[in-house]
Amino acid sequence: MIKMKYFELYELIDRSSFMKWGVRAWVLFNPRALEALDGLREFFNAPITVNNWWGNDGKGMEYRGYRPEDCPVGAKYSEHKNGNAFDCTVKGYTADDARRIILENQDNPLLKRIMRLEADVSWVHFDCKEGKERIYIFKA
Ligand SMILES: [Zn+2]
Repeated sequence: MIKMKYFELYELIDRSSFMKWGVRAWVLFNPRALEALDGLREFFNAPITVNNWWGNDGKGMEYRGYRPEDCPVGAKYSEHKNGNAFDCTVKGYTADDARRIILENQDNPLLKRIMRLEADVSWVHFDCKEGKERIYIFKA
């Protein structure tokens, strides 16, 4: 079973998928994306929030990591549905600052799995979709 250094499964998946699959849901993720998330957490040395429905009566954010096929939010072919993307809040950093710092340090081994960042959003979306450039910036 996959064990991440800094994150629990319920932080990375929506509530109904978590209830449905339990720990088997780890296989829904690209291992590289999990490695990238742990690496990002270690790089900033600051808490990173993906989902927070757990411990919030199920009412917090739940679609910032893995999204089920019938997810009501996001793009139809989102990398989130491949378990290949995360939307993050890095404590103490605006999304713009975090993106700039990631780009400035893209050769850091802790960030090597990050392939794409989404521009102009108030969270840090990264994914591990293979691209032409080392880190590709895209707009939704
Ligand atoms: Zn996203």
